[in-house]
Amino acid sequence: MKPAPILSIIVPCYNEEEGILDTIHKLEFLICELKKDNLVAAESFILFVDDGSIDSTFDVLRNNKHSSQKIIRLTTNKGQQFALLAGLDYVKESVDCTISIDSDLQDDLTVIEKMLMAYRKGAEIVCGVRSNRDTDSFFKRRTAKLFYKIMHAMDVPLIENHSEFRLLSKDAIIELGKYKERNVFLRGLLPLINLKIVSISYTQNKRLKGETKYSFGRLLSLAIRGITSYSNAPIRFIMIIGFILFILTMFQSVYVLVVYLRGNTVPGWASITLPLCFLGGIQLMSLGVIGEYIAKIYTETKQRPLYHISDIVG
Ligand code: UDP
Ligand code: MG
Repeated sequence: MKPAPILSIIVPCYNEEEGILDTIHKLEFLICELKKDNLVAAESFILFVDDGSIDSTFDVLRNNKHSSQKIIRLTTNKGQQFALLAGLDYVKESVDCTISIDSDLQDDLTVIEKMLMAYRKGAEIVCGVRSNRDTDSFFKRRTAKLFYKIMHAMDVPLIENHSEFRLLSKDAIIELGKYKERNVFLRGLLPLINLKIVSISYTQNKRLKGETKYSFGRLLSLAIRGITSYSNAPIRFIMIIGFILFILTMFQSVYVLVVYLRGNTVPGWASITLPLCFLGGIQLMSLGVIGEYIAKIYTETKQRPLYHISDIVG
């Protein structure tokens, strides 16, 4: 078994002023216990990544900082994925493994110990997998199911009901760092790096303070990023539809020609409008999907930095 690792618990925070103080104390207590029980090395620490909060989150973090806590602050809100990446980048030289956890502490803290045990027994990635989704709204539950169905149909090997609660070993972080893309969807990358993955199931609690930061728009944008970043299937799907339509149109043309040659053509309204609408719709849809991929290429070629750090505390 591996020795007790140097652990960093990475906590992305965005406008969490209502609940962050609670989180600071609970996590501090947790890391002290882990150190006391020799489950992690004494150098282990908690890293809060303030994702450009516009409320007092950063001040609360700074004013209540314990010695085993560090804070970095991004200049603007970049989203949870990038806040996590910023955290991973920041700690990767100084730790053996990291555990990322949401700042609302909906995830079960007792799972952390199990994650550490799995790591010490050889796992490189340990994913927290939710056994319940009753803390989500009806709408989020349905859309999440649909999302996994689409990903599954496109052969993207996602771990179902795993969000961002996970342990990553140093090797996993290094491998993850080899993916230079800007359109990052961490969950989709994990299975690709081919290291030993273990899942641990747990029950997620309700958010106690503050509101969810994932509006419908943000969820949709994350889902579209997830789909288009990992699969060209939508483009292929459109090509197939286009091909089928082309064949059907050939048959229709023969039919129209025969009717025309027999001389019993009636100035047709339906035969003009129907294909017009149908093809118009398909074309617009196709353009949209292709546009989505071109937008991806556009952002990738710019190679802009993913985030900027404005403050470092600790
Ligand atoms: N978060 C973030 N940046 C964002 C949105 C969210 O760092 O732009 C953080 C947020 O503070 C929380 C975590 O990501 O710690 C998960 O967000 P939330 O709990 O709102 O998501 P939900 O649990 O509702 O899916
Ligand atoms: Mg939450």
